[in-house]
Amino acid sequence: MKTFCGRANPTTGAMEWLEEAEDYDYHQEIARSRYADMLHDKDRNVKYYQGIRAAVSRVKGRGEKAIVLDIGTGTGLLSMMAASAGADFCYAVEVFRPMANAAVKIVEKNGFSDKIKVINKHSTEVTVGPDGDMECRANILVTELFDTELIGEGALPTYEHAHKYLVQEGCEAVPHRATVYVQLVESKRMWAWNKLFPVHVEAEDGEKIIVPPSEMENCPGVPSVCDIQLNQVPSSDFTALSDVVTMFSVDFSKPVQSASTCYRVQLEPVRPGKAQIVLSWWDIDMDPSGTINCTMAPYWVNPTAALQWRDHWMQCVYFLPREEPLVQGQKVHLTACRDEYSVWYTLQKASQEEDEAAVGVQSPVCRCHAHLLWNRARFGELNDQQRTRQYIQALRTVLNTDSVCLCISDGSLLPVLAHCLGAKQVQYFILVSRLLHLSLLFKANHLEDKIRVIEARPELMKPSHFEGKKISVLVGEPFFSTSLLPWHNLYFWYARTAVTSHLTSNVTVLPQSASLHMMIVEFQDLWRIRSPCGICEGFDVQTMDDMIKDSLNFRESKEAEPHPLWEYPCKSLSDPREVLTFDFRATVPEHCLSSEGSVNLVRKGKSHGAVLWMEYHLAADISISTGLMQISNEKGNCDWNRHCKQAVYFFSSVIESETLAAPAAVTYAINFDTKTGEIAMDFKL
Ligand code: SAH
Repeated sequence: MKTFCGRANPTTGAMEWLEEAEDYDYHQEIARSRYADMLHDKDRNVKYYQGIRAAVSRVKGRGEKAIVLDIGTGTGLLSMMAASAGADFCYAVEVFRPMANAAVKIVEKNGFSDKIKVINKHSTEVTVGPDGDMECRANILVTELFDTELIGEGALPTYEHAHKYLVQEGCEAVPHRATVYVQLVESKRMWAWNKLFPVHVEAEDGEKIIVPPSEMENCPGVPSVCDIQLNQVPSSDFTALSDVVTMFSVDFSKPVQSASTCYRVQLEPVRPGKAQIVLSWWDIDMDPSGTINCTMAPYWVNPTAALQWRDHWMQCVYFLPREEPLVQGQKVHLTACRDEYSVWYTLQKASQEEDEAAVGVQSPVCRCHAHLLWNRARFGELNDQQRTRQYIQALRTVLNTDSVCLCISDGSLLPVLAHCLGAKQVQYFILVSRLLHLSLLFKANHLEDKIRVIEARPELMKPSHFEGKKISVLVGEPFFSTSLLPWHNLYFWYARTAVTSHLTSNVTVLPQSASLHMMIVEFQDLWRIRSPCGICEGFDVQTMDDMIKDSLNFRESKEAEPHPLWEYPCKSLSDPREVLTFDFRATVPEHCLSSEGSVNLVRKGKSHGAVLWMEYHLAADISISTGLMQISNEKGNCDWNRHCKQAVYFFSSVIESETLAAPAAVTYAINFDTKTGEIAMDFKL
């Protein structure tokens, strides 16, 4: 059996469907899954165990047999907890075949085969009765089906079904209840992830302002959740406008309704400001009395509480459809609407109360096209004024009034900047497969006839696309929405190569070159997602560790993966090293580019892996880093570009250098295959 998997091809900038062996899919799934992170989440595991013990003893205390239904058993962990706590029988349901197989092995290895039945089905397919999957309905319902947004993995429809068909009335549920909390804030940093700010351009003939179209200002955006590690956001990045309040809660021990609904709370602003963002997180009470509580609350909510690091549950940032000025003392209403899988927010002034009916339950739809074109990080990047200034400065050095300029980048503002700076003719090309989402912006700035969008692939461009003219200035950020790893934006180089015949002999290319940089790091926490667990709360889950290792070896272990490192603190153990350069003034060479060498470890610590990123050299002395911004102190703490993901290559075994008596070094071999656009790498101590 073969399956088809989508992969971005950095040499064409396009998504391609590759035929892969059937097991590819689930190796990917396992290798990139968050099972390891969950097993390392001590706080979660301890509290589930306490909650399960309490539920079993309540049922036993009533003189009943304890029959457990564990939906989404994964490794079987929660069922094994229940069996150990004295449950009479557990039905462990798991839809994902490789995990169900793993659960069978793990349950057997831990000696619970007679108490736990693993059912490889989606819970809605499970049957009850003498010939069914379950002999009878359960009286304890245990699940862990939550994502950062609580309901995004389908917890509500699963609970709704389970209460109708799989559990007894009045059953015990672990967790017993989930509560969603919100706090209204003003945050320029986060608002910049959702709206385009006006761009100020100092041109020779005075300052020009690129304005976002009104459609963009009033656009409700897209309902996809923005989940981040709020604990990495400094308090200077936002101003709280309200206290933390409860938005809604769900009692899992009673029938659950998944149908769309709205919840409303009244808020009293604690200070005046612009309401822009709703920060949100949840907690779960493992028992009815709420004494066993597992919370995702960020650091400022309980300043003295110890924080559990976890990546499988974070916090949510919701953007209000438009910013709303708040006056202290004037109450407002915050409405949360949800469907089965997602939540969105709107704010009403008390005076708008009569509009209540207008607050529909329809999920937001982007009307300005920008939210379909730019993701949150891309919005942030385009709003980064320092970065824009660098591009303006560089463009100024290369443009003149005779320039015929071609821009190759997705959803880029460079053509607009180039036009403001006086380029007579700006050709702007986007890939055929991507729609013309910027037309509203061009229109708002009266540029619709000044910038031409060529919807043709670079290799298919003809002289007629350029009215027979040759391109004198070729620009790019470079940025392409199909890029996953930093070097995938080298597609700019391939596109540049493909349009060579349309360029003047002395064409200026901006950026003129790029370089790949590498540094060895110790992660504060991110290492957990790759670290074996062994024993979890007394249960041997090594089978899971082996399975992850297997899947990693299947392909991933020799590949780097993208992570936004501003959310995942690390310290540098080596100096940063430039390992490869790419000269955009020339075409892509036939031969591979490779680099070998070694970097000295200059600090003590655990070498968890190497981080790689690109730097773009726009013009002499103007470079932009998509990775390291600076090493901020002598401990080696790093500041990363907050708009980009960096590539992380985890070492298969952690190299620990506690003493630096003998200078330790890591050797590397990095190879850029110009045929595939991929980078292969290998590291050794
Ligand atoms: N219970 C484990 C694993 C939780 S991850 C633990 O706490 O460590 C959630 C698991 O639930 C995933 O393996 C997913 O495949 C499975 N799952 C989600 N919804 C399901 C459903 N409705 N029926 C069966 N399995 C489900």
